[in-house]
Amino acid sequence: MATSRRILLPEDEIPKQWYNVLPDLPRPLSPPINPQTREPVNPKDLEALFAKELVRQEVSSDRWILIPEEVREVYRIWRPTPLYRAARLEKLLRTPAKIYYKYEGVSPPGSHKPNTAVAQAYYNMKEGIARLTTETGAGQWGSALAFGCMYFGMKATVYMVKVSYHQKPFRRILMECWGAEVIPSPSDRTEFGRKVLKEDPDTPGSLGIAISEAIEDAVTSDDAKYSLGSVLNHVLLHQTVIGLEAKEQLKIVDDYPDMVFGCVGGGSSFSGLFLPFYYDRKSKKAEKPVRFIAVEPTACPTLSKGVYMYDHGDAARLTPLLKMYTLGHDFIPPPIHAGGLRYHGDAPILCLLVKEGEVEVKAYNQVEVCKAASLFIKAEGIIPAPETAHAIKAVIDEALKCRETGESKTLLFNFSGHGLLDLKAYDDYLRGLLQPYDYPEEKIEETIRKLKKLYPWLDQLPY
Ligand SMILES: *Cc1c(COP(=O)(O)O)cnc(C)c1O
Repeated sequence: MATSRRILLPEDEIPKQWYNVLPDLPRPLSPPINPQTREPVNPKDLEALFAKELVRQEVSSDRWILIPEEVREVYRIWRPTPLYRAARLEKLLRTPAKIYYKYEGVSPPGSHKPNTAVAQAYYNMKEGIARLTTETGAGQWGSALAFGCMYFGMKATVYMVKVSYHQKPFRRILMECWGAEVIPSPSDRTEFGRKVLKEDPDTPGSLGIAISEAIEDAVTSDDAKYSLGSVLNHVLLHQTVIGLEAKEQLKIVDDYPDMVFGCVGGGSSFSGLFLPFYYDRKSKKAEKPVRFIAVEPTACPTLSKGVYMYDHGDAARLTPLLKMYTLGHDFIPPPIHAGGLRYHGDAPILCLLVKEGEVEVKAYNQVEVCKAASLFIKAEGIIPAPETAHAIKAVIDEALKCRETGESKTLLFNFSGHGLLDLKAYDDYLRGLLQPYDYPEEKIEETIRKLKKLYPWLDQLPY
């Protein structure tokens, strides 16, 4: 019987530096734009929201950025994470491909998200900030930040989309265990929340509303800053520990990927895995012409069907305009189980690399995705988050292709989190209750029309 094996790194091999891709992009990233001035946002202005060091990292041109020893100390609780060779899955698929996955589900919150939450809490603490505010949908990001803040003796205030607050209590309880204050959003804590509640007291809330409340809370208090769990450059930077470790682990077994896969919500975990391999390719150090595959839901097809243009990061249009693939900031996601993949935009870094043809894109619906996940579970035993299951579907498809062609490709994917708090998805799948969703193309065209009407000068920007 084939056994799937763990490839472990010694504790002192947690990376000492993060990899910053900004100096290695095929062309410079388009700057965030302030829609009032129509000018690039001055990084200084971002310091009202974020810790200074995080703003510095956001625009840094240093390729390698030191990971503070205090952050590595917390990483030690679960890092280095194991790399698995999925030998039982390979056998089940009768594929000559070799399948590896980097298992980020071993962190206390159960996903890759604390890689950045811990770093963000640390830098804010160093700058004398006592409290961080953020939003969360189903609670993955909120729980990671609650965990990070707990470690550095800070308070966390998490605005949680009201419908999830009531329907998905487990991550709320996790956050409260770690000492965070969790507030169902919209709330009467903020002016924006009160306004929404007045108009519609029974609203289920949305991520866009929760973002607006968290930002308002941070900018109206002296001791608080805001924190974001994906999309921004500094978040992708912190996630590169994943790929840097994976590269060392593959060296142990003398292997190198032909293809690197990851699911994409805002793009941070997939970028964290593939960017260090992109660096190899860019600097001609890659052993093979490695390919990168981003995987998303057909219900939220940002990279595969969205438009590459400036848009807001939130529904209330509080954030600057970011150049990215977008489905429109007023996109209302269908109710799929992969809550972490329902964002209307994606990280500008990842979008640029897709636009430039450096990264390929695939999209699947949640029925085929859950089917792939249940095959994976029967081989490997570990229950993936519904988000992770998207990457698994793409890997299984590629492994089956290898069975046809007889190629023994090396496939590597990011196992972004475990699914033990998302068992409802599997229950619905096993009972045949899951629906496939496809986001209608007409809606995307409508979005572009609306954006162009709102900002008719968008086409004239030089970026
Ligand atoms: C949040 C989340 C994602 C999506 O976020 P990215 O920024 O795209 O990584 C994926 N998987 C899991 C388990 C998550 O919690």
